[in-house]
Amino acid sequence: MTYVITTPCIGVKDGACVDVCPVDCIHPSSSDSEFEQYDQLFINPDECIDCGACEPACPVTAIFEESAVPAKDNSFIALNAKYFRK
Ligand code: SF4
Ligand code: SF4
Repeated sequence: MTYVITTPCIGVKDGACVDVCPVDCIHPSSSDSEFEQYDQLFINPDECIDCGACEPACPVTAIFEESAVPAKDNSFIALNAKYFRK
């Protein structure tokens, strides 16, 4: 399982989730060279340890455990994974 970043992050990208993730699996962070190229952040499903720390840290409720992602944002499950498979 993994956590997934969804629509509300778009245009916000404040990085609060990056600051609390114990395994540094949320990218691009503001220090990554690609940060400006993306309108949201993504969680690496292969590295996320499902700790849940990022979910309450998000000011716009963009993060959900995979099985709890709202139906309208189901495509974000694949979208998060895709960022790490380039
Ligand atoms: S659930 Fe934990 S490990 Fe996974 S992205 Fe959030 S903070 Fe990082
Ligand atoms: S805390 Fe929420 S809005 Fe901020 S970067 Fe993470 S997912 Fe996006």
